[in-house]
Amino acid sequence: MPEFLTRGARLVLNTLLPPTCAACGTEVMTEGAFCGTCFQTAQRIIDPCCHRCGVPLENEGLGGAQNCCAACQAHPPLWRSARAAFVYDAWSRRLILPLKYSDHTENAVVLARQMAASGEELLKNATVIVPVPLYRTRLWKRRYNQAALMAQTISRLAGLPCVVDALQRVRPTKALARLSASEREQEMEQAVQVRKGREARIQGQAVLLVDDVLTTGSTATACTAALMKAGAASVDILVAARTGRVDEQNPRFVQE
Ligand SMILES: [Zn+2]
Ligand SMILES: [Zn+2]
Repeated sequence: MPEFLTRGARLVLNTLLPPTCAACGTEVMTEGAFCGTCFQTAQRIIDPCCHRCGVPLENEGLGGAQNCCAACQAHPPLWRSARAAFVYDAWSRRLILPLKYSDHTENAVVLARQMAASGEELLKNATVIVPVPLYRTRLWKRRYNQAALMAQTISRLAGLPCVVDALQRVRPTKALARLSASEREQEMEQAVQVRKGREARIQGQAVLLVDDVLTTGSTATACTAALMKAGAASVDILVAARTGRVDEQNPRFVQE
């Protein structure tokens, strides 16, 4: 569909035209479904995967009884467990990048459905859903927070409350992609806070933090630290996609 169409015009057109594959635009039978090719191309993250960071494991035995990758065993993350619906690859980028950068907010619903299915176990243990926040100037430019859109859909699907504005970025962060892992950590530290007046909604809760992509985990760590500081009982992470990383235990999971 042409990029110049407004969100409203797209919504009207979507109701008039036959449903298309959410990822590639091929005609499909039902709204929000993937075509056969995309269904096969999509790299869903299924068990066995590391329950701490969501990275796929080559086989059950590798993660041990705890289903935990070597990296998480060496440096356990601050959060309790994490799960991703897809590997962050060329295919999942076709859904995520238009959501982030060109107003394709309808992709949030498509991704959220997949996340709710992949994160079924996490949702069972959660009492409240919170999205990763955007800094206010970025929110102002983009007009929506893609993580909040996904969190709201997951909240509806799972029948759990969502506190959309629980977290806030207290200062803008540099373009994290260009920084090294330790620079990112430094950059994110103290960059996120629980918003004043929202502490009571977090205290004692099992929080499910929602974001689009889990990369190095520095953003998720900063959010987890802020939530724990506000008295959250636990924090789990649910994302649309997980980036690969070079891991000698996971030779098949080298994406970037
Ligand atoms: Zn398709
Ligand atoms: Zn792990």
